[in-house]
Amino acid sequence: MNIEIINTGNELMLGRVLNTHQQWLCRQFADAGYVVTRQVAVADTAVAIQQAVREALTRARLIVSTGGLGPTSDDLTRDAIAELVGRPLREDPTIVAALEAWYAARQRTPSPAVMLQAQVPEGATVLPNANGTAPGLLMEVRAKEGGGAESSWLIMLPGPPRELRPMFAAHVLPWVKATFPLAAPFVCRTLRSTGVPESTMQQQIAGPLAALVARGLEIGYCARPGEVDVRLVARGPEAPALVAEAEAIVRREVGRNLYGVEGESLEAAVVRELAGRRQSLAVAESCTGGRIANRVTDVPGASEVFWGGFITYSNALKERLLGVRAETLAAHGAVSEATAREMAEGARARTGADYALAATGIAGPGGGTPDKPVGTVFIALANAGGTRVVRMLNAFDRDTFKQVTSQQALELLRQRLLE
Ligand code: ATP
Ligand code: MG
Repeated sequence: MNIEIINTGNELMLGRVLNTHQQWLCRQFADAGYVVTRQVAVADTAVAIQQAVREALTRARLIVSTGGLGPTSDDLTRDAIAELVGRPLREDPTIVAALEAWYAARQRTPSPAVMLQAQVPEGATVLPNANGTAPGLLMEVRAKEGGGAESSWLIMLPGPPRELRPMFAAHVLPWVKATFPLAAPFVCRTLRSTGVPESTMQQQIAGPLAALVARGLEIGYCARPGEVDVRLVARGPEAPALVAEAEAIVRREVGRNLYGVEGESLEAAVVRELAGRRQSLAVAESCTGGRIANRVTDVPGASEVFWGGFITYSNALKERLLGVRAETLAAHGAVSEATAREMAEGARARTGADYALAATGIAGPGGGTPDKPVGTVFIALANAGGTRVVRMLNAFDRDTFKQVTSQQALELLRQRLLE
């Protein structure tokens, strides 16, 4: 089956916004066993959108467009497509009611332009938008309207990722699976790891998995700063057994480094582990500038386990807020094992949390010394049993430095929780 994606938006053509829908949608389809055959990005003009859709209709059974469903004058997708396939627009009362409820809940009154979003091409199905005002649309385009011989399906999704992604998961993927069932079973399992470089991961698991690869297993690696995903994929009647066997082998080889499956983040795994033990966390951050706290508080339910923390960038605040001793700072420096230890212990003593994480390091690009080159960081974890400090060398740009350091800190805690 041919699936094509059309991303619309001048911001994409001007390089103002990275086209993340392209990657995200292809990934969602691929993980479900469908392969996108073509993708294109076009400007926000009726001509460009119509041309792209007209062409795609001649090839594809399913076309997904993104963007341009909002109420502003540059939002042309709905009108352009309705005109192309010759369907009049009609006001949909359920959307009108949803828009009124949306604005009422926010104590605002909708402007007339907002109600344009209730205009639906005749015969289209409305996909509710749980996170915004522009609904998605799904419609069948028959051959006489420009669709393929078997008819084509067009799905229009809103531009903002936080609206598009939940809508795709809730309404599009289930519909695709039901409408175009796969000929053979397809299984895709993603195991998420941290603390093992990609090449080491491959070295450790490729050998043990070789026999399964010969039987049709596909292995994929996806590395991001501080983490590696291992994707196990198989098709056909044997697929579920093959992938289950492969997962067992990966867990045997690198199980300690696996923190989650599918989309779970390390911070979510840490919050889950802490919540299961009814234990609490506080942080004392210097070089990470709050990144650890930010990641933990991205997790729904973090308030059950995360008490708060200190961003102590200066020595003065390390002393005043955390009780780091002036002698320690003078003798060892702010970036040292001793300072990291006193930061974590100070944060724990002052908050009463079960665990405290601390990080102090040299993000660079300046500030390195022969003993402590740029990227040097000390991460400490204190709990009732004592304090552990690790030294790392994360010589990256500042943002990656923060991400990798926060990853190592969270992993230090996760490993302690598992002990
Ligand atoms: P709105 O109601 O917000 O106007 P819309 O459906 O009209 O939604 P657009 O106006 O096309 O969507 O895009 C809204 C925003 O969504 C863009 O400014 C951009 O930040 C983001 N966005 C759009 N397309 C993409 C894309 N392909 N990848 C990543 N982000 C995107
Ligand atoms: Mg818009």
